Parts: sequence; C-alpha cells; structure tokens
Amino acid sequence: MRKKTVRDIDVSEKRVLMRVDFNVPLGEDGSILDDRRIRAALPTIEYLLGKGAKLILVSHLGRPKGVDPTLRMDNVARRLSELLGKPVVKTDSCVGPQVKEKIDNMKPGEVIMLENIRFCEGETKNDPEFARQLAELADVYVNDAFGTAHRAHASTEGVTKYLPAVAGFLMEKELEFLGKVISEPDKPFVVILGGAKVSDKIGLIENLMDKADTILIGGGMLFTFLKAKGLEIGKSLLDAEHIDYAKGVLEKAGDKIVLAEDVVVADRIALDASYKIVSTDNIPPDWIGVDIGPRSVETFARYLKNARTIFWNGPMGIYEIEIFAEGTKGVAEAVAESPALSIAGGGDIAAALEELSYAEKISHISTGGGASLEFIEGRELPGVTALQDKEFDEQ
Ligand code: ADP
Ligand code: MG
Repeated sequence: MRKKTVRDIDVSEKRVLMRVDFNVPLGEDGSILDDRRIRAALPTIEYLLGKGAKLILVSHLGRPKGVDPTLRMDNVARRLSELLGKPVVKTDSCVGPQVKEKIDNMKPGEVIMLENIRFCEGETKNDPEFARQLAELADVYVNDAFGTAHRAHASTEGVTKYLPAVAGFLMEKELEFLGKVISEPDKPFVVILGGAKVSDKIGLIENLMDKADTILIGGGMLFTFLKAKGLEIGKSLLDAEHIDYAKGVLEKAGDKIVLAEDVVVADRIALDASYKIVSTDNIPPDWIGVDIGPRSVETFARYLKNARTIFWNGPMGIYEIEIFAEGTKGVAEAVAESPALSIAGGGDIAAALEELSYAEKISHISTGGGASLEFIEGRELPGVTALQDKEFDEQ
C-alpha cells in the first residue's frame, strides 16, 4: 500500500489521536444495537496499546446539531472498555483545558475516548482553528475510519495539516481490497450491479465499464435497461430520465453487459403478495419486478465461477422482504463458491450479505457504504489523500 500505516511510525509513549468510526446504531434507550464497528477497530487499538501508546480515540455518533445528550459517547466508551478489558476514560468535551489535563496524566497503554466530535461545529466545517486544537492533544494521528474518509472534516482531514498522519489496519484493509478492484484486478473481472436507481450508479458504471470483463445487472436498475431495449416493464421501478443513458451504455458495452433474463413479478410489494416468475420479455402490465429469477441466477453463476475478481454493489431484489431475497441469496451463493477474490461495497449489499449469513464467505465486505462507492467511482477520498505516503524505497 502507498500510504504509511501504524507499522511505519514509532508510537511508544506517544500521544496518538486515532479517528475511528464508532457511529453505531442505537436503540431508543440509547443502548448499542450492534457493536461491529467498535470491534472492527480493535486490531489497531490493541496494536497501539501493545506498543505503549497513549491512545486518544475520536469519533462521531449520529448527526447531532450541537450538543445532544442522547448522542454522548458514554455507552460506546463503556462497550469498548468491556471489549478491551481495561478502563476507557471518557471526556465531556472534544478539546479544551480539561481534556488536555486528562491527557497530560495518561500513562502508556491507557485509553481516552473524546466526546462526540460532531458536538463541535468546527468538525464538519473543517475549521482550521478547531483542527489545530484537536491536533494539539497529540503527537501522531491515525485514521482507521474508512467510512468517513470521503468527508473533509476536522477529525478526518483538517487535523492532518498539523500532525504526522498514518492509516490504521482497518483503513489499510479497505484500501487494499477496494484498491484491487480499481487498479489491476485479476481477470476475468466480473461486476455485479443491483440496487435501486440507475442515477446512483452512473459513477460506478463509468469507472468500471472499461475495467470489467462482464457487468451483471439485476435489482431495480435492471428495469430501466429493459425499457431502454424497448421491453414492457409493467409497474417496475423506472428511472425515466436515464433511459437514454442506459441505451448508450448498452451500445457502448455490447456483450459486456449481461441483463437478468427472468424476473420475479409481484402484484404488490408485501410479504403476502401474489408473485410469479416471468421472462424479461414477458413482464405483464400492472405487475412489479421485485427480484431476479432462477435462470438469471444460473447465468450469473456461470460468469462468477470463472471470475478471478468480483465486485458487487446493490442487492438483486427487494431483499428486505424475505420472499424477494432469493435472487440475492442465489448470487451470494455463487460468489461464495467462486475462487475469485470477492469484494462487496455499499450499505444495502453489506446489510443483505450479513442478514443472509454470507459475510464470512466473501473475501471482503466494505465497512464504508458511501466511502467505498466513491472510492470505486475513482474519486479521491480527502481522508485518505491526507495520509502520508510511504517513502519511495519502502514501496
Ligand atoms: P447499495 O446500498 O448496496 O449501494 P442501493 O442503495 O442502490 O444499494 O439499493 C438498495 C435498495 O434497492 C434496497 O432497498 C432494495 O429493496 C432496492 N431494490 C432492489 N431491487 C429492487 C427492485 N426490483 N425494485 C425496487 N427496489 C429494489
Ligand atoms: Mg443503499
């Protein structure tokens, strides 16, 4: 990897400010519903503590406008403390004299969790003065929050102007796997695209069209492509403004694009809907396309079996409703069986693969929804760009 990581710097007895993504889902009583994001940062945290760092953690939680008592980091700090088996001191603010005093009294191997960084308005504004105050707390900066790397905020970008900045292990892993997708993927490289709207996927299509050998298309966006081919799509999701775009893609990509050949159509989007499987050239009016059909899964599986690299964004159907999750499940099975390096990116595809219990069978499921898509679109992530590059002879 081009970026320096925690392995490349000396952290012993240093104050290390580490940006983590502890933006966990909370229940109504403020309890943590899923601590996966906290657990994902443990390898870097444990490594730094093992090296004798004084670790200062910083994260956002939710979308507070100013101080919001329901979004304090106390529960997160408590859960981290349980997972680490050692105390985690939580501060009541992000910067300032009280925080400094606590840090001055730290010993190597101790952990402090700062208050929710979005309580301070300088964070999202990337205010240089606020970034400087944050940087003053530490000697070194580590970013392990890939999921927020697409935002130029004080704790993801601004702070790097004042401190040596390197990647944590989770960040490193994301960049390695996602980097493989956009630079020199082993061929055949097969892309699976699904999800809701064509308009959300234009950046992906544009950046992957030349790199991929095959692009398999299912999900809601399929129907705009079918429409572009002049087929009847009933009441299925249509992105009317992008029919011409879809036409252009089909012309340009030729055989590269493989559209689902059969679909599940339903009379309603509900668990007790009537539904049937039809060919894509035989979608009845008034019916809604909700999933890809078994023949499509078989065809997709043939491509996936021979792939060496797979990138998957967007579920194949309305997976939130169990009876319409079969297409996504079938394709997940084929990805799991393929010898290819398989990478999934996107909020819903990550959730779907977890729910359907395929998380362990995919090489890498990105933890960064929006950030992973921007990365695959070929856009620069400010939080990544800001990290130090390895020196030439280290590469
Ligand atoms: P990701 O988060 O992986 O990038 P998207 O956000 O683009 O994926 O799409 C996810 C949504 O697409 C899900 O809510 C799913 O219900 C919806 N979807 C999938 N197939 C269809 C379909 N045939 N019709 C309507 N919506 C669909
Ligand atoms: Mg989504």
